[in-house]
Amino acid sequence: MFGVITHGGDKGNAILSLQNELHKKACNLHYHSDVLMPVNSRIMYGMLTDKIEERIRESKVKTDAIVEDIKNKVQNTKKIRKKHLTAVMSNLVTSSVVRKYFTPQIHSDLCTNCGICQSVCPVNNISVKDGKAFIEDKCEQCTTCLHWCPQVAIHYKKRKVRKEQQYRNPEVKLKDIAKRSLSL
Ligand code: SF4
Ligand code: SF4
Repeated sequence: MFGVITHGGDKGNAILSLQNELHKKACNLHYHSDVLMPVNSRIMYGMLTDKIEERIRESKVKTDAIVEDIKNKVQNTKKIRKKHLTAVMSNLVTSSVVRKYFTPQIHSDLCTNCGICQSVCPVNNISVKDGKAFIEDKCEQCTTCLHWCPQVAIHYKKRKVRKEQQYRNPEVKLKDIAKRSLSL
């Protein structure tokens, strides 16, 4: 079993969480690694526009190395340590009050109900009602919908998003992440 995470600078406890989930199923995580990517969270960091190309370039080198490790059945032997401060922050941002604050909103006047946001949300948290999309209350704050909306209709209450602030990995196409076929 191997797990690889992407992140924008803080790996958090994602690998530990994955390991814990696998343990529940009597499985073991034999290998894990991470790939630093451009930051497009827009919640805390904003966009690191000056580092995009550098990070994409380095991520390819790292990914190639990870692929080699996996092919060679390399195993991590070091214990995965819990980052306690990160755990506190995670609990905080997933609390219902903070989650609500960091959940993006859809500007219904701009929304053309194309269905893209609904299709790319990894936790099925976007529904369509009366011909308009709206975000429900189980948001994981991944900001995928915000970056993929062609009308730039998704933003934070106090932080409007401009077209040039949207970021998508240039090598990832909509068909790669959309959950259902869209007539675009
Ligand atoms: S992606 Fe944008 S325009 Fe399309 S349904 Fe969602 S909010 Fe509306
Ligand atoms: S931010 Fe992510 S989890 Fe939240 S509604 Fe948008 S796509 Fe779904």
